[in-house]
Amino acid sequence: MKKIISNLSPKIDFISGSVVAYYKKCNRANCKCSQGYLHGPYFYRFWRHEGKRFKQYVRKEDVAVIKAACKNYQEQKRADKEIQLKHLTLWRKLKAQLNEVISNE
Ligand SMILES: [Zn+2]
Repeated sequence: MKKIISNLSPKIDFISGSVVAYYKKCNRANCKCSQGYLHGPYFYRFWRHEGKRFKQYVRKEDVAVIKAACKNYQEQKRADKEIQLKHLTLWRKLKAQLNEVISNE
């Protein structure tokens, strides 16, 4: 039964950026925050898109899901980069070998 419920709930698997926790001071006099007991945490997701920076409030109950989705995204990007690097290395090796063959002719 639990599985059915989780399948029905909206799922975010991959999302760029990272979640940051913030603690705030309010302007009320005699509030606990004026003694250093800040309010929070409040969570925001920061991400970049086409060179611009974005910020979005993340509800406490969504933090775990959004954090996991950010991590998935970062890991996916890292894996993509690794593959690209492997291809680049292979290409350079091939190029060097071709140059050797050409220069030996
Ligand atoms: Zn306060």
